[in-house]
Amino acid sequence: MTSSYYQCCQRCIMDTTAEDIYFDENGWCNYCADFLARMKGGVLGEGQKELALQDLIEKIKNDGRSKKYDCVIGLSGGADSSYVLHLAKHWGLRPLAVHMDNGWNSELAQNNIEHLVRKLEVDLYVHVIDWREYRKLMQAFFDADVIDVELLYDNAMLAVNYQLAAKYGVKYILSGCNLATEGMKIPKNWNWFKLDKRNIKVLAARGRVQIKSFPIIGLISYLYYRVFKKIQWVHVLDYVHYNKAESMSLLGRLYGFKSYPYKHYESVFTRFYQGYLLPQKFGVDKRKVHLSTLIMSGQMEREVALVKMKENPYDSIQALDQDREYFLKKMKWRSSDLDAYLQRPEVPHDHYASEASYVKQLKFLWKSLRGGG
Ligand SMILES: [Zn+2]
Repeated sequence: MTSSYYQCCQRCIMDTTAEDIYFDENGWCNYCADFLARMKGGVLGEGQKELALQDLIEKIKNDGRSKKYDCVIGLSGGADSSYVLHLAKHWGLRPLAVHMDNGWNSELAQNNIEHLVRKLEVDLYVHVIDWREYRKLMQAFFDADVIDVELLYDNAMLAVNYQLAAKYGVKYILSGCNLATEGMKIPKNWNWFKLDKRNIKVLAARGRVQIKSFPIIGLISYLYYRVFKKIQWVHVLDYVHYNKAESMSLLGRLYGFKSYPYKHYESVFTRFYQGYLLPQKFGVDKRKVHLSTLIMSGQMEREVALVKMKENPYDSIQALDQDREYFLKKMKWRSSDLDAYLQRPEVPHDHYASEASYVKQLKFLWKSLRGGG
């Protein structure tokens, strides 16, 4: 699967570690080309944005009129979702904030969330994942040598958000996903289909883990929520002018929000996974996607990004050592367990049973359900 051939895009910094990358005669890649095309189609002009936003707010308020809440917002403790909560309150919406505690959150993330919900007077639902069960599930994923260990958390997060929206009769889940800072697609070989309940279950069974309380969601439940309950995710940051640096300083001023040195580092595991396990075991550095997005949306110079890529994802060797120790202790691993894990080759997710193969068929089904749209 891996070859010695290497090429890096001349416009962004994506390279041949993305399996399906290809380049045009300028040396520009399909990832940045695709991003530009989507920006053009997906991001509204300033005037349109304002109108579309007013429409959206009206719709959310109307649909939620007789309900306790009119939207659900998942809070990670990071800037994007925190800013969404700030905006929602500013627009006069009545959100229920949801946070998933998987035992890996940094103290900074917890503090950010506490300050934010207290000052905004928002109800917060914290779903605490049973750590013993979660650790065993993570262990099963490590033992299977699959790339997307975060599938567990991401899937559970989807499940809990949908469950709560359904419970309170809410039709809108507001998300911090946005084209401006994370619009570039993650290469297919860098993560896995996030609704793959079957994959989670089969890996759990393989590791002799009984799933008792861990929330999971598969395609069938997704369809139930989406089609019958009509619950939808709304990427509200695409409706506003979103600049990460500006929103962070605003959050800092209003709520004492403290930022992270790097994207998605509100969780210690995410930091260690993206900054160490992914590059070391799988040859994947997600900074390429994040920085390429910033380059293509005019928020960073390509040269600056290339210099940043030369730096270690970690601030310092001490910071890496600290996270490494924390990881080993929490997972009950010895140093030699980590070495052995890093040595073993990757096994693709679909080497095990998976729901991903249904997705293509489902896309067809989806279109016909929505009348071809
Ligand atoms: Zn490119």
